[in-house]
Amino acid sequence: MRLFSAFEIVGSPEICNFAARNFVHPASVQKISTMALLHNRVSQQELKEKLHQEKESRTTISFYRYFPIADPKVFRDEFYKALHSLQVFGRVYVAHEGINAQASVPSGNFEKLRNYLNSVPGLHGLRLNVAVDDDGRSFWVLKIKVRDKIVADGISDESFSMERRGGYVNAGEMNKLMADGNTIVVDMRNHYEYEVGHFQDAIEIPSDTFREQLPMAVDMLKDNKDKNIIMYCTGGIRCEKASAYMLHNGFKHVYHLEGGIINYAKQVKEDDSITSKFIGKNFVFDDRLGERITEDVIATCHQCGKPADTHTNCRNSGCHLLFIQCDECAKKYDGCCSEACQQVYSLPEEEQKILRKGIDKGMMVFNKSRHRRPRKDAK
Ligand SMILES: [Zn+2]
Ligand SMILES: [Zn+2]
Repeated sequence: MRLFSAFEIVGSPEICNFAARNFVHPASVQKISTMALLHNRVSQQELKEKLHQEKESRTTISFYRYFPIADPKVFRDEFYKALHSLQVFGRVYVAHEGINAQASVPSGNFEKLRNYLNSVPGLHGLRLNVAVDDDGRSFWVLKIKVRDKIVADGISDESFSMERRGGYVNAGEMNKLMADGNTIVVDMRNHYEYEVGHFQDAIEIPSDTFREQLPMAVDMLKDNKDKNIIMYCTGGIRCEKASAYMLHNGFKHVYHLEGGIINYAKQVKEDDSITSKFIGKNFVFDDRLGERITEDVIATCHQCGKPADTHTNCRNSGCHLLFIQCDECAKKYDGCCSEACQQVYSLPEEEQKILRKGIDKGMMVFNKSRHRRPRKDAK
């Protein structure tokens, strides 16, 4: 099972696949993109097979950095050449404001990649997040795309700049600041993430989209411009932008958690003197749907209301709703979100297919889960 994250929604991947298959540069492929479309299915298959035939293990990494890139197209071309030569696969976004990447590299090339990245002006000392519990098989092609922004923010104010942003705090510094009564901790993630785990006393910005959260955070905190504001998210990329936006709006003491919850959890694990102030689970975009940070279960089953924090997708493929379900309800409803879905799920696959026809798949994308949450009629 693979889930969508905002990161994964990319346009016309066919072009880059075609480029990879034919060893031509993506920039020169624009003209023949129609042809690429026709060949896409075959090439995906070929590329996947090639990946599975690889003997060497791959390391999955992610990294991002906000730094000014004068000409993203030129940067992309150079970057593509270098990464391609190190057999890197993955998705990289390049914008005037910086770079954001999720990738895999043959483990033997990992140090070479690190050295290369360190040599790129603006990327020195880049923190590479290495994914644990990952077989490195998530990507089978390299796609580097020029985008307007690395994180869509909806900010139209031309004077906004990512060059002035909040100070980084690490786990120890975060705990220290949190102990100060003059500090407000702000969670910049989505509701379903906050629901299963968050920092003690962290406030939630109740919107499903980051672009709506930015002005909302400014408004919610407008009477606290002199307080310490610490912003956090899963990996750091969103809260770093949010911190710049708060400074831009007159907040004076803004911080953000370096490397997000992922990095915080790692530091807590490595250093016994730091106690986790993050309670519950950190929601992550992989099969586990969450990494336990502390034993606290802070959410409840969407069906029966008992303490539970296991996210699951409704097993009726025509629904696929993301929701929290306890073990008992999972048995009772066969992993479905309602009796209605359970009934559909019990039908032969052929009949389910007929029922699914005409259903708008767009509604099933799970970041809209809040609008489609637990059917109150479920028994
Ligand atoms: Zn339950
Ligand atoms: Zn359902």
